[in-house]
Amino acid sequence: MKLVKLIANLGYGSRKDVTAMFRQGRITDADGEVLYADDKVEHAAIRIDGEAIDPPLGLTILLHKPVGYTCSTKDPGRIVYDLLPPRYRLRSPLLSTVGRLDRDTSGMLLLTDDGGLLHRIVSPKANLAKVYEATLASDLRGDEGAIFASGELMLEAEKTPLAPAALEVLEPRRARLILTEGRYHQVRRMFAAVGNHVDALHRARIGGLSLQDLPSGQWRTLDSTDLETLF
Ligand code: URA
Repeated sequence: MKLVKLIANLGYGSRKDVTAMFRQGRITDADGEVLYADDKVEHAAIRIDGEAIDPPLGLTILLHKPVGYTCSTKDPGRIVYDLLPPRYRLRSPLLSTVGRLDRDTSGMLLLTDDGGLLHRIVSPKANLAKVYEATLASDLRGDEGAIFASGELMLEAEKTPLAPAALEVLEPRRARLILTEGRYHQVRRMFAAVGNHVDALHRARIGGLSLQDLPSGQWRTLDSTDLETLF
């Protein structure tokens, strides 16, 4: 790919803007040598105004989503993209969230510009476990684990029952729920179906990958080892 297109696709500006940046000598290699639009150079060696260029396409991010941010790009309130460098919103292809977390849910959110990877993660065939920790309004009754594991629980307005899910009771009002699906508001609706209410919800893990000690509101890029851990 031509350097102009590559840099424009990373959100640095239109092709016209980036062409002007080349003319102004703002795009250099690691030794400060001015680059030209037709030069062939390794991505890691490109500097813009002396700064390392943003990661190339094929970017996947792990974000520790705080409560209060939506996964939409259109919401007038706070959105998860506000937690990333502003240029990341202008990348083409877009950095999409892999599934969604509700505004009131915190925890592990993946974003990627790799459509194939996104599909692999959300596909029911992948059967990736999503681990949630729920704080509940009422004490657990004791039969919820069996109901969730039955594979027979029907949520309102759904045509097929939920796949079996595993419940681990942590405290009378705290539980870990392990799902392999990602239906709309699934965890909240599952607890509502057994007469409870989710006061707080956190996603701790997807597949083999967890947030570890990543603080709330922070993010990091995933490398190939992380992706192997995920699947
Ligand atoms: N289930 C929910 O109800 N909400 C989420 O954000 C994720 C799963």
